Amino acid sequence: MSNPLSLDVYVTPMRPVVGAPAQGPGDEPVWSPMSSTLIHGEHDAILVDTLVTFDQANVLADWVDGFGKKVIAILIAHGHSDHWIGLQRLLQRFPCAKALARQAPQQRAQFEATDPKTKKYWQSTFPGEIPDDPTVPAPLMEGGIDIEEQRLEFIDIGQGDTEHSTVIHVPSIAAVVAGDVVYNQVHMLTVETDERSRQAWMHSLDRIAALQPRIVVAGHKRVNAPDTPDNIGASKRYLADFTRIAAERKTVEGIVNAMLALHGDRDNPYVVWLSARRAVARRG
Ligand SMILES: [Zn+2]
Repeated sequence: MSNPLSLDVYVTPMRPVVGAPAQGPGDEPVWSPMSSTLIHGEHDAILVDTLVTFDQANVLADWVDGFGKKVIAILIAHGHSDHWIGLQRLLQRFPCAKALARQAPQQRAQFEATDPKTKKYWQSTFPGEIPDDPTVPAPLMEGGIDIEEQRLEFIDIGQGDTEHSTVIHVPSIAAVVAGDVVYNQVHMLTVETDERSRQAWMHSLDRIAALQPRIVVAGHKRVNAPDTPDNIGASKRYLADFTRIAAERKTVEGIVNAMLALHGDRDNPYVVWLSARRAVARRG
């Protein structure tokens, strides 16, 4: 019997980014806090998600180094660049690591790295702080990866804050590294979803709950927030509230105010503004 795996989470705090002028209080462009998870055994370690900027990746690499383990793989759970664009810097620090994602997130990452409009968005949001030509993960055809004889299972869960998301299940420690399917004390980005896909997102949350995890790590979580499974239900309620409020309220400000009245204790109201603007724009 191998030693039990350990799981540790690093969170980079919220920070300002470049974006359009604010339309109201809380609309100043801020990037949400984000997590990177280290799953480690006696000698080896696997990192999930990489953060964004050179600085963030450097600090993350130092934190990983502190565990004194060999990083054998860096896994990417979904294709949004804020979760993998730090990969290039991390691979310089951990050259033995294989960078892997399941096929659909890998394709999304490839798209974000090459599509001119998307590339321009990331470069203008973090000017001078990210690589011009970022390294993308390689596709992993298998459904998981082993570390010291214990399995990390990739689950192609589908809809999260983007479609084709995956989560990483570590059955031996009842943990799920949930990427942007689960949020923890941070406003949830709904810009890529409509009512129907939010329904699918809630179904993804039910599937995570059915695994009965004891540890659930959200891709965006408040610094020091515990990685508890109650974030699954809280995420579901947030999405249901957003759908109801987006249908009831006519204006962007109306949606923002109603969401903040219910969920004002979460980090980063800028995300509510983004989500509300898109919900109004979708009505045509
Ligand atoms: Zn994200």
